[in-house]
Amino acid sequence: MFENLQDKLDRAFKVLKGQGNITEINVAETMKEIRKALLDADVNYKTAKTFTDQVKEKALGSNVLTSISPGQLLTKIMNDELAALMGGEATELDLKNNPTIILIAGLNGAGKTTFTGKLALHLKSKGKKPLMVAGDVYRPAAVDQLQVLGEQVGVPVYANKESKDPVAIALEGIAEGKRNNNNVIIVDTAGRLSIDEALMNEISEVKAQTKPHEILFVVDSMTGQDAVNTAKVFNDRLDFTGVVLTKLDGDTRGGAALSIKSVVDKPIKFIGTGEKMEALDVFYPDRMASRILGMGDVVSLVERAQQQFDEKEAAELQKKIRKNKFDFNDFYNQIQQIKKMGNMKDLMGMIPGVGKMMKNVDIDDDAFKGVESIIQSMTPYEKENPDVIQQSRRIRIAKGSGNKVEDVTKLLKQFEDMRKVMKQFSNPAAAAKMMRNMP
Ligand code: GDP
Repeated sequence: MFENLQDKLDRAFKVLKGQGNITEINVAETMKEIRKALLDADVNYKTAKTFTDQVKEKALGSNVLTSISPGQLLTKIMNDELAALMGGEATELDLKNNPTIILIAGLNGAGKTTFTGKLALHLKSKGKKPLMVAGDVYRPAAVDQLQVLGEQVGVPVYANKESKDPVAIALEGIAEGKRNNNNVIIVDTAGRLSIDEALMNEISEVKAQTKPHEILFVVDSMTGQDAVNTAKVFNDRLDFTGVVLTKLDGDTRGGAALSIKSVVDKPIKFIGTGEKMEALDVFYPDRMASRILGMGDVVSLVERAQQQFDEKEAAELQKKIRKNKFDFNDFYNQIQQIKKMGNMKDLMGMIPGVGKMMKNVDIDDDAFKGVESIIQSMTPYEKENPDVIQQSRRIRIAKGSGNKVEDVTKLLKQFEDMRKVMKQFSNPAAAAKMMRNMP
């Protein structure tokens, strides 16, 4: 995410890093570079200019502190200003109405249907009882797509394939939700390939009839300035309540994320970071600013982990580890949970300093493929009793999973080492002893 922008800002900062103090000249030079970086990122000109003017003013004004270097000072100012540019505080959904009606709007391909599913899952995990309404009547596969997502996330979908009337479908869906005591009703709407009058009239009519409490405008962040322009047109007509930026996982420049708030003055509420249903994050401007500046985002990383790991499950697992019963079934489950946390590269990027290091390294979810296939080729007995996997079993597993015998042996060795370490850490006395022996 945002690799290009990070790179260019990094280069701009170099101007100041070597300097002992902040002067009018070196700040001006740095700001020129920063503005260039922002324009390259597809931030609009006015936003970039206002932004650098503000940073410059603050940098020159706060030159009294001598304890930190100019580079550090600028990083701090940039962090605050970037966060402010993207909206300052995180803005929550207004869910107090029962039912709360949420309208999803945007162009075709922006990721509306995917987001509808992700939002349903997100709300369900917060204890809500959502219903999704399949109102995208023009894109042939949209209704089926939403139904599949509904099954996947365990949230009901209202659809009426007979009808081509988006207003009627939305109203029917809302009535259905009320009957079933759904406290949030998410209405997916039809998009178009580009903005046209018919689309705007139709979605305005859906808005007028359904009186939604939230209207979320979904837009593909990779389209940069186009995303910002489309947002402006939709907002003029719909006066939406928030923006959802999708496909941030593939966005190296970040222009839409940086300019949309200042252009339409509506908060970004969510970001999509992958195709999976779990790849949705509440948007926190300050955390995003830290990430852009390569400072990582440990808070989000911990939160994602917390979402995935169930406390009861963790306690069970600990018990198994203590009894040395941690087996390949547990190991396999752990891999699945880590995968659910999201794209690996994205996760790494949340660790301070690691994002930059990983920039050119290609890691994806396939990283686990080899290990998964080996585990899948084990019999249930073998998974529970890894010690029995001697040479002849290893040969069979390697053949069955399409791996080399060495790979199987390597995995078994790693598994054994991991078990030893885990066992030691689950026993406080042994762990303390191990710590003392550390260099
Ligand atoms: P709609 O026409 O607006 O309903 O768009 P869809 O929900 O069908 O999404 C279009 C494509 O974008 C699909 O292939 C999705 O899997 C993909 N997509 C949606 N959100 C994201 C995201 O956050 N990241 C990535 N990488 N792909 C996404």
